[in-house]
Amino acid sequence: MHVRFWGVRGSTPTPQKENMRYGGNTSCIELRTESDEVLILDGGTGIRLLGEKLDREFGSRPIRAHIFFSHFHLDHIQGIPFFGPLYNAKNHFTFYFAERLDARIMLDAVAGIMASPYFPVDMSNLPCRRDYVNLSEGRLNVGNATIDVLPLNHPQGSFGLRVTQNEKALTYCTDVELGVEWSDRNVRKLAQDAEFFIVDSQYTPDELQNHKGWGHSSWAQAVEIGVSANAKQVALFHYNPIHEDTTVDEMLRNAKKYHPNVIAAWEGLEVTI
Ligand SMILES: [Zn+2]
Ligand SMILES: [Zn+2]
Repeated sequence: MHVRFWGVRGSTPTPQKENMRYGGNTSCIELRTESDEVLILDGGTGIRLLGEKLDREFGSRPIRAHIFFSHFHLDHIQGIPFFGPLYNAKNHFTFYFAERLDARIMLDAVAGIMASPYFPVDMSNLPCRRDYVNLSEGRLNVGNATIDVLPLNHPQGSFGLRVTQNEKALTYCTDVELGVEWSDRNVRKLAQDAEFFIVDSQYTPDELQNHKGWGHSSWAQAVEIGVSANAKQVALFHYNPIHEDTTVDEMLRNAKKYHPNVIAAWEGLEVTI
């Protein structure tokens, strides 16, 4: 599997020069399976550039992609109206969303940001083919990749996922407040022995003290749960908008003391699993 990060920022885009090494776009990850299925994890503002790249890559061939939403907070759907491939009838997208929500709510949630007066094109007028799948807790397959889904502790709920192919696993747990037993258990289950574990690292341990209940974790919690799940590589992700590159550098320096193989994800980072 091959991963590319298109947005790593939490909460809101931060296009300012102090953040440019790690990047200012919000959550979006492209995952290409061994059989070249296109999986997209979240539709934050990073998805705009992914759309341009897919258009270049596929040319006149249809784009077939699977878009997973961890949840519907704005930073995870904000890029959808600017995802160019949606505006081409040849393309086909399947949207996956969490349990507890029916297709109507899903449609309303994402379509809501494109509804009048927020955006000039209503989602129902998009020409591409679209399907909607309610993930619920459990397992599904895309090609021969297996995707396990479990709910996580976050205001209004989120879910984490583990994509496994050829016995190698990538785990994506963003927007999770660690330290709550049922949710930690789910994170560990998803991240157990994973090759690559992407995890919410919004805060420093000091900042966390004033942000209990906000739905995010510190880099220290992220690394700790990565160690306890025996994840081979941990990727810090979903940075606090106030964190400039130098702060993320420092988080990474500290995190490396607790796990031999930690990286801080940046826009453009590509990893083969
Ligand atoms: Zn978020
Ligand atoms: Zn959130």
